Formats: sequence, C-alpha cells, structure tokens
Amino acid sequence: MNTPATHVEAPFEAPEAAQLVARLRAAHRSGRTRPPAWRTEQLTRLRALLTENREAIADALHADLGKPRTEAYLAEVDLSVREIDHTLAHLEQWLAPQQLPAEELAGLPDGSTAGTQYDPLGTVLVIAPWNYPVQLLLVPLAGALAAGNTVVAKPSEMAPAASALMARMIPSYLDTEAVAVVEGGVPETTALLAQRFDHIFYTGNGTVGRIVMRAAAEHLTPVTLELGGKSPVFVDRGVDVDTVARRLAESKFRNAGQTCVAPDYVLTDARTAQALADALERATKAAYGEDPQTSGVYGRIVNERHFDRISALLGSGRTAFGGRTDRADRYIEPTVLLDVRPDEPVMQEEIFGPVLPIVTVADFGEAIDFINDRDKPLALYAFTEDETTRHRLATETSSGGLGFGLPMAHLAVPALPFGGVGESGLGSYHGPHSIATFSHRKARLDVPLSQSANR
Ligand code: NAD
Repeated sequence: MNTPATHVEAPFEAPEAAQLVARLRAAHRSGRTRPPAWRTEQLTRLRALLTENREAIADALHADLGKPRTEAYLAEVDLSVREIDHTLAHLEQWLAPQQLPAEELAGLPDGSTAGTQYDPLGTVLVIAPWNYPVQLLLVPLAGALAAGNTVVAKPSEMAPAASALMARMIPSYLDTEAVAVVEGGVPETTALLAQRFDHIFYTGNGTVGRIVMRAAAEHLTPVTLELGGKSPVFVDRGVDVDTVARRLAESKFRNAGQTCVAPDYVLTDARTAQALADALERATKAAYGEDPQTSGVYGRIVNERHFDRISALLGSGRTAFGGRTDRADRYIEPTVLLDVRPDEPVMQEEIFGPVLPIVTVADFGEAIDFINDRDKPLALYAFTEDETTRHRLATETSSGGLGFGLPMAHLAVPALPFGGVGESGLGSYHGPHSIATFSHRKARLDVPLSQSANR
C-alpha cells in the first residue's frame, strides 16, 4: 500500500483542481501506469478493497439508502468483483496489439506490417451518482486503471457515507500517485470540470450530462455519458404472468426503484394488464411480506426531495396495490398503477422510484409506436414467446440495451457493452468496452528501410 494515504481535502477550488490534475498528469507521463503488471496490481488491490470491506460497504449503503445487505453484496460488491475478475482474466489478450493481414498492405514495400495498439488516454475524471455509489464509482475506475490511466474519482455527495468510505479506502489500497478521490458536490465538480482531462466518464442525469459535455467541449475532451430515462417493458398476451411478475417485481423494486435500468413502465393489452397487476401483488408480497416497510429487505428513497417528487406521481392512473408512504422514513411502498394515460405525470419523467405504471395498448404495433414516439431508452425489455415480436423489437426500436425475459440482467454480463443511446447516453463500458472507452486505438505502420524492400 502507498503512503501518504490521504484523499483531497476542502477547500477544493480551481487552483487545487489544477494542481491535482497536473500531479496526476505528471504521474502518467512518468510511465508508471503503462506496464500491464501495474494495472493488474491495481485491479487486484481494488478487488481486495471490495472483498475485505464488504461489511463496511454494506453499512455505508444502509446509512445512505437503507439498502438491504443482500442487495449491497449482490449489486455493489459482487457485481464489481465479477467485473474486475473478468478484466483480470482477459486483460493481456485485450491489450495485445492487433496485426492486419498482409493482403491489406498491397502497394507497400515487402516486409511492411500494420496494426493497432491501445494507448492509455492519460488522466481521466470519473463522476459517479448516488444510487449505486460503490459499483458506479469502482467499475469505471477499474476500467480506467486497466487501460493504464491516472484517475480522479468523484463520488456523489448525495450518498455521503459511501462517499466518505470510498475517499478513505481508495487511497489506502490504490497507488496514490495515480488515483485521487475528490469528495464534494457542484462547486468541487465545477472546479474539476474546468480542467483539461483526457476523458470524462459521467453517470447521472441528462441535465448535468449536458453541463459535463459543455465543459468537456472547451478542451475537446471525449466524454462517456451514462444517463437514464424511461425504460419500457412490453408484456405479450398469453405469457405466464406469475413468472413475469416475479422477475418484474424483483427488478423494479430493488433499491426501491432507484436503478437506472429498472423497468420504468409496462405496455400490455387490457386483459393482460389486470392479470399482471394481480400477479405483481402476489410477487411483491412473496418478496417483501405484507408490510415491506418492516421487512428489512426493502430500501428507502435517497432524500426528501426525491421522496416528494415520487410521491407526487402516485396520483396518476388507478392504484392496483401499494401507494402508502412515510416521509419521516423516506419509505414508499411498492406500487402498481393501472389505466395510466400517457399524458399523466408518471409518464412524463423517469420515475426512479418503486412505482410501476401499466399502460394499455391495443396491440403490438401500438406498443412499438409508443416506444418510438419517445426518447431512446437506456433499456428495453420484453416478455414474449413470439419470435416475430422479438425480431420486430430488435430491429424496429433503438435502446441502449435490449433484454428479453429478465430485466436488468444484461448489465451483469461483463462482456456486453453497457451504455445508452440518444437521451439515455453516449458511449459504453464494462469488460473490453471499458478498455476501448479509456484508450486510444492507435494505428501503426512499419515499413522496413532495408535494401531488401523493393522501393
Ligand atoms: P447525482 O445527483 O448523484 O449526480 C451525479 C453526479 O453529478 C454527482 O457526482 C454530482 O456531484 C454531480 N453533479 C450534480 N450536479 C452537478 C452540476 N451542476 N455540475 C457538475 N456536477 C454535478 O445523481 P443523479 O443524476 O440524481 O442520478 C440519477 C440519474 O442517473 C437517473 O437519471 C439515472 O437513470 C441515471 N443513472 C444512470 C446510470 C447508467 O449507468 N446509465 C446509472 C445510475 C444512474
């Protein structure tokens, strides 16, 4: 481990940010982050940070979000560890230079070779949100380190316990010459955004995404924007509603609905709607009991502002079940709304809470139009056995990811690119896609000078 094990302290304004970036840039220039052995060591240490501090991480997530321990282990610790393990297993292969076949070099002197290699970009800024404050800080950080960069990691101030824990842990596990944590909110982030980075990786909402992109444009800095939006679920008639409901409830109500790829709303026909609502009620009771508030396995809303925002959406449609709230506890009951009209408040913005509206459509064609009339979602899900329906969803709609049969699961497959399109984001990461995001793919041509070359 490295000393001094400090993170960046307040006040943190533009001069401090400039100094920090200059220090990290010099560390990158020194070449210390380039050797594969350094990258592997950092990833191994990051893995240890996660596995040796499982309890402390779960405690912090419980303090910030009332996150149940099982959720904390599964979606924050284990998922991040799996991502790191996958990277460690494949890194050498991903980093290997690629050679073009000789026939691509027609017209060049004999003996010429050409190919590509990945270069680290340099110094990278990672800005994380509050809803999965560990995973969404450490997985991008792992990718940036695997690609050989130095990194400023900025956790979300809205998850203060997790932020403080990361600020304490990261410097005691990782190379402090190469990684710095800056805690804080808008002023600190603004000070960082004024600096020239070689890449900015932002996860959060589209309003701030635009601020990030504008600041990045000043320095021609490339960005990855991992944003959100309303992710629809199409439920076909004739499917087994109990299986669908179990999988929907599990994905929608995890972290009290505060997941970027959570199902936002359901599109289905009128007959399936009622049967699905009944099945969702059974599935929700099976998962959280009669009273989710006292179940110990159900999360809370991050703060009063979001509590008030989500509570205001409960008036849309007709409540099939749920609807109870407790502001002092930031508790919102798992809720399903039926007969929701597209012009009602719950359909105007990303819900980001445990409220699932069911919108009735006449047929599949109307569902496709409904999806295509709106912003491209981060994820699109469907429950259907029909191959034509699957094909049409795959080819007639655009979304960051497409999941049949099990919402949110695509995010946990490290070899798949994870990211949005249009309003739901720009760029992607995870596994080899993180290497591509945090590297420059450099073209290289070698033409021999020797006499044997024919020019
Ligand atoms: P947030 O409020 O924690 O903001 C994210 C980051 O932006 C924080 O680090 C914060 O300090 C910073 N920030 C906030 N205001 C800023 C400003 N004015 N200038 C500079 N930086 C600023 O998180 P959030 O945006 O509330 O997160 C929820 C949103 O994120 C949802 O829309 C959700 O769908 C999306 N999300 C997307 C993903 C994904 O992977 N695509 C993951 C999680 C969340």
